[in-house]
Amino acid sequence: MTQTDTKNLRRLVRDIPDYPKPGILFRDITPMLVDPEALHQATDALAAPFLGQKIDIIAAAEARGFIFAAPLAMKLGAGFVPIRKPGKLPFDFHSFAYELEYGTDELQMHVDGVKPGQRVVIVDDLLATGGTMEACCRLLEKCDAEIVGCSFLIHLVPLGGEERLSPHKVHSVLQYE
Ligand code: AMP
Repeated sequence: MTQTDTKNLRRLVRDIPDYPKPGILFRDITPMLVDPEALHQATDALAAPFLGQKIDIIAAAEARGFIFAAPLAMKLGAGFVPIRKPGKLPFDFHSFAYELEYGTDELQMHVDGVKPGQRVVIVDDLLATGGTMEACCRLLEKCDAEIVGCSFLIHLVPLGGEERLSPHKVHSVLQYE
């Protein structure tokens, strides 16, 4: 992607101060999603480091991860595995609970979502503290998947998510300092 493309994508991320609570600067990607060319570019940029590699599965946590996961799967010739909040999956599942600033959250994935040794890329719209993506990695590790990398549209660099996900490879399209 050229620098101009990156600039265009960045222009389509809308900053909403104090949402969903005071002190949070919410990066709203809906202006990007509604723009057909930008949506295409964003999907291409998320896939770029993995082109030409054997990728079996794209995994993503609801809800915004799902937006990019299916087009990414189709682009990379992979399948899609959903990672969901509790109470949504109909079959047997693995579960991983993780700490939030206040309280805990939990994500779940079907036990047969990924076979041992399958090569997986996990995608999400945004990397902040890395808690969500770490939970996704733990779930995939329970299935003995090989995590090839984690791909994000937006990386909030100062929050330390990349370090938290180490040694997994982190790719991001737009970095915010
Ligand atoms: P974290 O687990 O802290 O890395 O947070 C990442 C998840 O929370 C992603 O799925 C994002 O959709 C959401 N998120 C966290 N911070 C923001 C933010 N500033 N703007 C938009 N979404 C966010």
